Amino acid sequence: MSQHLSYSQISMYLDCSRRWQGHYKQGLTNPLGEALVFGTVAHNTMEQFVTDKSMNMQELWDIAWEAEKDKTAFKGIVWEETPETVYNIGMNLFGNQEVYDILGEIEPKTIDGEPAIERFIEWKLENLPTIIGYIDCIGSDGIPIDFKTAGRMWPEDKARKELQPLFYLAALDQLGEHDHEYKFKHVVVTKTKNPRIVVFESQRSAGEIEFMEMIARRVWGGISAGVFIPNPTSFMCSPRFCGTWFDCVGKYTG
Ligand code: SF4
Repeated sequence: MSQHLSYSQISMYLDCSRRWQGHYKQGLTNPLGEALVFGTVAHNTMEQFVTDKSMNMQELWDIAWEAEKDKTAFKGIVWEETPETVYNIGMNLFGNQEVYDILGEIEPKTIDGEPAIERFIEWKLENLPTIIGYIDCIGSDGIPIDFKTAGRMWPEDKARKELQPLFYLAALDQLGEHDHEYKFKHVVVTKTKNPRIVVFESQRSAGEIEFMEMIARRVWGGISAGVFIPNPTSFMCSPRFCGTWFDCVGKYTG
């Protein structure tokens, strides 16, 4: 079995373990949606800008968009809007003054002479594959930051409920980096006509990291034992998002 497990795998297994099985065991790859492409390009734009604020954000969006277009997977995207509309949504977002001001305040920490952007991390747990991932940015105060794009602004309590920060904080603890003091920031931008940006800072705890470890162990236990249960109530349960659809719900519903 794999010697690595990513946080996104854990998240997918929790959402629908049958979809995890289809994607990772049967090669029924999940379709690439427009939201994922938008998120990837926006991520790259934000990471580039906080690294070098002399750059123009709209130019960075344009460069990142063109780079994404060159990728083979771009051709397989199922578009809800036209690519031009999605491009223009990004141009509007990154031309917004508030987005510029708030991103402009983020200073990445310097680690080994490099800005802590898209930092690879591992969480090693006994008798479990290493859990791997990337932290979008670690601020100069040591607090990890995740950039998110959303169709509408998150409700106040969403950031506090996210599990992913616990994985990041646990991995940093293992590296002996404790200056985060169990704080985490989500920087959320919306793809709306009038874009919004909000920084949600949440305080987590060592106890929650224990909880995350328990979840990771149970997910791995389920994978190892071949427990793959369909979850038709998942938001992703549609042929638009789930590559396993025709081998699962679609097989019964036509
Ligand atoms: S079709 Fe629905 S229940 Fe089946 S694997 Fe996909 S998301 Fe899960």
